[in-house]
Amino acid sequence: MTRLRGKAQRSPDAGAARVVVVGMGFAGLATVRRLARAGLRVTLVDRNVYSTFQPLLYQVATGGLNPSDVAYPLRGFAYRYGARFRRGEVVSIDDTARKVTLARGEELEYDYLILATGVSAAYYGVTGADKHSFGLYTRRDADALCDQLMACLERLSTGPRGLQAAITVVGGGATGVELAGTLADLRNIALATAFPDIDRSGLRIRLVEQAPALLTPYVPSLREYAHRQLLDRGVDVRLDTAIREITADQVVLADGEQLPSDVTVWAAGVTAPESVGGWGLPQGRGGRIQVGPDLRVIGHDRIFAIGDIALTGDQPVPQLAQPALQMGRFAADQVVRLETGRPTARFAYHDKGIMATIGRRSAVVQLPHRVRIRGTLAWFAWLGLHLVTLLGNRNRISALINLSYRYLSWGRGGGIIVDSDPPAY
Ligand SMILES: Cc1cc2nc3c(=O)[nH]c(=O)nc-3n(C[C@H](O)[C@H](O)[C@H](O)COP(=O)(O)OP(=O)(O)OC[C@H]3O[C@@H](n4cnc5c(N)ncnc54)[C@H](O)[C@@H]3O)c2cc1C
Repeated sequence: MTRLRGKAQRSPDAGAARVVVVGMGFAGLATVRRLARAGLRVTLVDRNVYSTFQPLLYQVATGGLNPSDVAYPLRGFAYRYGARFRRGEVVSIDDTARKVTLARGEELEYDYLILATGVSAAYYGVTGADKHSFGLYTRRDADALCDQLMACLERLSTGPRGLQAAITVVGGGATGVELAGTLADLRNIALATAFPDIDRSGLRIRLVEQAPALLTPYVPSLREYAHRQLLDRGVDVRLDTAIREITADQVVLADGEQLPSDVTVWAAGVTAPESVGGWGLPQGRGGRIQVGPDLRVIGHDRIFAIGDIALTGDQPVPQLAQPALQMGRFAADQVVRLETGRPTARFAYHDKGIMATIGRRSAVVQLPHRVRIRGTLAWFAWLGLHLVTLLGNRNRISALINLSYRYLSWGRGGGIIVDSDPPAY
């Protein structure tokens, strides 16, 4: 992850090339140091004033972390690198005039444009999914889900004896597995003291996946381990199961079976954010922007697309943090090459492995050269890596304290207090 300097970088020369970077997630952030070091005039744009660390959103959603633990302030970040920051949503791009327009009308001119908008939920036409399910892509999503989960527990706690509730997580990828596993730990370990009135057997946690296995990018032994771990935690795992409709209190399967669901979380797929469709750029599978070997958008010499939103050739790179970071650094280097009259290079992704956590002391790690780790060691590796890569010392310290407290004190109901009477979302 990009290292920050203590002091603001020297301001670039007035005649230096202007680079606008849209989207300050992993990919956008990774461009900045190299662009600034090359003396370019950099403008950073994001719809939020903070960057969100998505891999720990499920902890915010389950009350283990505060929302601010996963948010990193962008204005201070820009200042340290001598860059400008503009808060806003890019709604259009005019590549002939070389300018982007923000939703509130402001125009930003560029010599090079780097698009790093990430992705949002894809509902694949499932009726009611957008309206009646919770996503987990933004800090607001996590906050809203957390309040809803706590309201559900509060209802169980104060309602008549024998009251039942069900939480359905749709999607058996890393996000779905992490969330279902943590919810099960919450029910099995923390509920006895945090909500002593709740009969734990009345709270059902369900994970629905259309494919025949969970965690499909992993080798079969790790997939099976994750599956077993969820079953051991009492999660109702349904594989080979497609969903037809989601309502306010039900999930309807493709075969017509109706499952009661008080809270439904959608973690089943991604697509380009809506605004990207209006930019007039070539889009491929999943709405991703099609780029050439040097990550320039097909047909556009001065526009790059990186991170989750970029679709590279026949073998797309995975939509994960590590490829986004590598693409960010690479695109910045290509801008510098073009500015110094050198030809661009071909992007190659260096696979450093993948990891997913299932719950307390349970994770899977798949590294190159057939290195596979699972269980407690994998869990500590997962935890350590996420704390190290979290941006900002304040966040690292608060996340370390909050997660340590969560996992050491769950038996005593440890956790963060949230609103149990949430507004309707
Ligand atoms: C819940 C969850 C858990 C995950 N866990 C892991 C994990 O454990 N390990 C891992 O490697 N990966 C994980 N991922 C994937 C990883 O987070 C993404 O691959 C990574 O964030 C992609 O980086 P990015 O920079 O392309 O996009 P993002 O990080 O999504 O950033 C995009 C930014 O663009 C901004 N933006 C979007 N549209 C506009 C616009 N029109 N105008 C202005 N700004 C805009 C957004 O506000 C956002 O800040 C997880 C993802 C999720 C959702």
